Amino acid sequence: MSRHRNVRGYNYDEDFDDDDIYGHSVDDDLCCISPATANQFIYSRQERHAPREEPLEEEEEYGEEDVPMSPAVSSNLNPLDQAKLYSCLDHMRTVLGDAFPDSVLSQTAIRYGFDPHKALDAVLSDDTKKAPVTGSTNEEAAVPARLGQETAPLPQRTKQEAVAEKAKSRDASQTKLDSEVVPKVARMTVSGKKQTMGFDVPSTGENDLVTSSCRRGGSPENATTTPATEVTTKRPETPSKGSNVDEPSTVPTPGRNAGKSRQSINVKAELEKRQGGKPLLNLVVIGHVDAGKSTLMGHLLYLLGNVNKRTMHKYEQESKKAGKASFAYAWVLDETGEERDRGVTMDVGMTKFETNSKVVTLMDAPGHKDFIPNMITGAAQADVAVLVVDASRGEFEAGFEAGGQTREHALLVRSLGVTQLAVAVNKMDQVNWQQQRFQDIISKLGHFLKQAGFKESDVFYIPTSGLSGENLVTRSSVSQLTSWYSGPSLLEQIDAFKAPQRSVDKPFRLCVSDVFKDQGSGFCVTGKIEAGYIQTGDKIQAMPPNETCTVKGITLHDEALDWAAAGDHVSLTVTGMDIIKINVGCVFCDPKAPIRACTRFRARILLFNIEVPITQGFPVLLHYQTLSEPATIRKLISVLHKSSGEVLKKKPKCLSKGMNAIVEIQTQRPVSLELYKDYKELGRFMLRYVGSTIAAGVVTEIK
Ligand code: GDP
Repeated sequence: MSRHRNVRGYNYDEDFDDDDIYGHSVDDDLCCISPATANQFIYSRQERHAPREEPLEEEEEYGEEDVPMSPAVSSNLNPLDQAKLYSCLDHMRTVLGDAFPDSVLSQTAIRYGFDPHKALDAVLSDDTKKAPVTGSTNEEAAVPARLGQETAPLPQRTKQEAVAEKAKSRDASQTKLDSEVVPKVARMTVSGKKQTMGFDVPSTGENDLVTSSCRRGGSPENATTTPATEVTTKRPETPSKGSNVDEPSTVPTPGRNAGKSRQSINVKAELEKRQGGKPLLNLVVIGHVDAGKSTLMGHLLYLLGNVNKRTMHKYEQESKKAGKASFAYAWVLDETGEERDRGVTMDVGMTKFETNSKVVTLMDAPGHKDFIPNMITGAAQADVAVLVVDASRGEFEAGFEAGGQTREHALLVRSLGVTQLAVAVNKMDQVNWQQQRFQDIISKLGHFLKQAGFKESDVFYIPTSGLSGENLVTRSSVSQLTSWYSGPSLLEQIDAFKAPQRSVDKPFRLCVSDVFKDQGSGFCVTGKIEAGYIQTGDKIQAMPPNETCTVKGITLHDEALDWAAAGDHVSLTVTGMDIIKINVGCVFCDPKAPIRACTRFRARILLFNIEVPITQGFPVLLHYQTLSEPATIRKLISVLHKSSGEVLKKKPKCLSKGMNAIVEIQTQRPVSLELYKDYKELGRFMLRYVGSTIAAGVVTEIK
């Protein structure tokens, strides 16, 4: 994840010690602003949507390496078998590294007819019984040992092994396909870039075909061919219709009914049936750099069975090689090479997992202050949040008191509409699971979170250890903890969050998070549907540039569908428009009720703890959904009383910290906005200035 502390120009201590600022009138209910308008800044994400998911990329194949081999073993083989053996060993080495002696690998490879996958399974299942040969140093040795401990007792593993057993009885190619593809984590990024999705996808011809066509929004056959741990989203079959005359359907394998006229569907009813009736929940993980966010969530995914043992072993080996053994679980989420090299999460990764009663889209937000714009984009789409704090001595304080990201993140998500929060008090192993430490942390945090506008009854504290996996999926059995804690595990808490309402009844809105050219004549856009729903064949309008196009295909969670609704993170294949006109931040909408694009709008803003007062012409960066656009504060209209909302002063000369004000904002280029009163989720924005978040606002008037 991410690392860093200071937010320039933002002294939280002053801010929140001072009664006169953001978060003052918490007792009134939720917040810091007047009761009349509290609902504006601090609205409830309960009224909001849900998740997403998308296009994915298969993981890179294992790298090639020269593998030394026992001459005694290879010399008994004919040249063809020798070649097969070398190839098999190559494959095994890239997964296992130097953890096993050559002779063991060679013999296993021969025993399993040079099938690297079977051989790996065999070696690894032995691995659970006897420790592999390693020459690792202190830290390196410590983690795999812990990982090993976690591995054995998992029910999920047993299930997977059972699946693997079954698979063995099938023919070789089928076995290969299943064992490789089943444990899979869907992954994309909020800010657009698709990242690795799916672990251990082998480079067999068939698989490549399957995955790539699914990625394009492929045919239903292909989509269902890809086994995944995700729930297969069942959509209603829309009756077949004739092809669309406007646009020749040259886009490859779009959604089932691409190019057909729209049939009315009862989206609400269909949504309820979808995912086996499980509501969707967008969850963002936030917190100071190094609090253990990636490790915690990576381990949770592993315990849930979303990452297979072999992949985890590979991460252990690779992270060991890179001298970062303790980051093995974090690598489940920190997918890109750069993120791993730098040890920071940069983009917002998305992963899907399930609890008993919810389908959760997990967004792993960067904590490093350089990537806060990405974090804002992720948080803007979240319904609930997990705030991770480091319980170690001095570390919690560093993240919380020294201007760390703990405060900024919590404030940002609250300002962006998140009301329910689980606080994972992490690394409790470092403080021997001391109740006193836990209590100290929650009393400090509790006070702050209340000021930031969180209701006490909506904040839940869970002691965890992301590294050892305690209290993540199941309740901990560590006696030091159970002696004083009998509350839920992190997963149980996530499961207990209330699911948000979605605006499916409102006109269609989708904020574009990525645009890319695919094969065929159309192009693809990804984004979250904020309101309404969409069907293949629909005409939609892009604002700006105020042009229409036709939806040829809809892909959700790697599956081609006929419709998608508010809360879904989809990929649309569209035709009839030039890709060059579409940018990240554009909004696709219903042409009958389009969103307005403007360069001037009025807003009510709440200023954070800014150092430089805001005057007319003040330059800012407007962060609105997926958009980040240079703007200026064109006019200072009035200062409002933060509780009553009454006008205290008209045409003020400047605005200082903690003030509530009406301002007019001018953007350089047209932006599509909604009034807060019409669409809560689309009427909010943040303002930043030289790397600091200076205000949260809601749109009150579009000029
Ligand atoms: P992030 O920046 O918040 O994503 O933090 P990471 O997940 O990258 O973890 C930072 C460091 O803390 C890594 O070295 C982890 O191994 C370590 N870490 C994470 N969780 C725990 C924990 O529960 N206990 C201990 N002792 N170390 C942890």
